[in-house]
Amino acid sequence: MGKTVLIVEDEKTIVDILKFNLMREGYDTLEALDGLTGLELGRTKDPDLILLDVMLPGMNGFDVCAALRDGGSTVPIIMLTAREEESDKVFGLEAGADDYITKPFSMRELLARVKANIRRRSLDAGMRGAGENSLKLGDLVLDLNAVSLQKAGRTIEVSQKEFDLLTCFAKEPGRVFSREELMEKVWNYDYFGDVRTVDVTIRRLREKVEDDPGTPRYIKTKRGAGYYGGE
Ligand code: CA
Repeated sequence: MGKTVLIVEDEKTIVDILKFNLMREGYDTLEALDGLTGLELGRTKDPDLILLDVMLPGMNGFDVCAALRDGGSTVPIIMLTAREEESDKVFGLEAGADDYITKPFSMRELLARVKANIRRRSLDAGMRGAGENSLKLGDLVLDLNAVSLQKAGRTIEVSQKEFDLLTCFAKEPGRVFSREELMEKVWNYDYFGDVRTVDVTIRRLREKVEDDPGTPRYIKTKRGAGYYGGE
């Protein structure tokens, strides 16, 4: 079945180039030229991935991303950031984006990221279908079928990447994962991954699950080595 990519971008020439290249790779596309339309299509059309520009008329990309996540959407979101600015990347990840790509981007790199993010999601779905249905990390319960997280009976909204990170830790509590390893496992990169993506996502995840994010119980830091799941 064809995968659908929603393009949210106000520059028509970029939309056309993206559409042309994605369709040539076999994807269906949906397009929105402003943030509110993008949010609406993201909510109603159930795309397999969203390419989301930051600077948009009406509602910016960070707010669209945050609104989708607040609504419980776990769709992979790649932010298109205009500048090579650290703050844009961090804002995007904090808003719940899975990935970002800086303009001007190479089409080859963008298509590779689209593919990696969609494949990752399919693999997760396959793994969930085949094996066990839930994992525990302390009093966190990960429902692998529903991709939902509960803490002491209360549901915590997390993005797909946050969920995937927790899954890594919950599968092998105590085992230390390096940032590079998490980048590869969760983001599917064995190429130019920026490991700070891992740090930002972990920080956001800690704020959601830890009683005190400053002294984490579930996601612990092994200094100079990486992160591990505490039991
Ligand atoms: Ca724009």
